[in-house]
Amino acid sequence: MATAQDAKVEEAYPNQTGQRQTGHFSGQPIEYRKINGDNVYEGDILLTDEQLATGKAQTESAGRTTGKWPSGIVYYTIDSNLPSQNRVTDAIAHWEANTSIRFVRRTTQSNFVTFRVGSGCSSNIGMTGSRQYINLASGCSTGNTIHEIGHALGLFHEQTRNDRDTFVNILTQNIQSGYENNFAKYSALGYSGSDFGALDFGSIMMYGSYSFSSNGQPTITKKDGSTFNIQRSGLSAGDKSGIDIMY
Ligand SMILES: [Zn+2]
Repeated sequence: MATAQDAKVEEAYPNQTGQRQTGHFSGQPIEYRKINGDNVYEGDILLTDEQLATGKAQTESAGRTTGKWPSGIVYYTIDSNLPSQNRVTDAIAHWEANTSIRFVRRTTQSNFVTFRVGSGCSSNIGMTGSRQYINLASGCSTGNTIHEIGHALGLFHEQTRNDRDTFVNILTQNIQSGYENNFAKYSALGYSGSDFGALDFGSIMMYGSYSFSSNGQPTITKKDGSTFNIQRSGLSAGDKSGIDIMY
């Protein structure tokens, strides 16, 4: 059973809520948070200054259709100051054991991910076209790292699918003030994407029923009103097949 406390730890800027900011992205007014210089949207998704300045998604339609890594190869570096680097290598091993995605230490490539210390766990969605970061605070587990790599590969949060209303109820009245945008559909951010298969409650990219709850009551339930657990241990069958279709 997921609890509200689990939810707070999960997509992670647990101790630093940052300053609320408003801006425009793809013609839509959005709210995000400025935390240690990062523009954090939906709890753990990074928007670049350029994305906010131009009001456009850099890759036009990241998400689940574009912003993909050529040939499914992700080049990466690990900052030497990052503690517990096995979180990264274990997460990469999990992706490689379960999908066709391959991770290669960066040499001279211009598009690559650097895993580094951050105040939360966060990532851009898809390949941004230059150096990009996955930030990992000390509380970010291997499972969280698998989740953030999912974002870097182009996966959205599962509850932001365009067809999610077929599968879930969003209980806005129970969401912490200022975090309502975490529950917006990805199309509201101007990303285009594809919804593969049916909404997967077991996805490592799915929020839990109590994520960002203000009052201990659920923020997301199944259509029948029942709650469900959050899963941050590994890729689900749906995650694997979604990535197979994407790549
Ligand atoms: Zn996330």
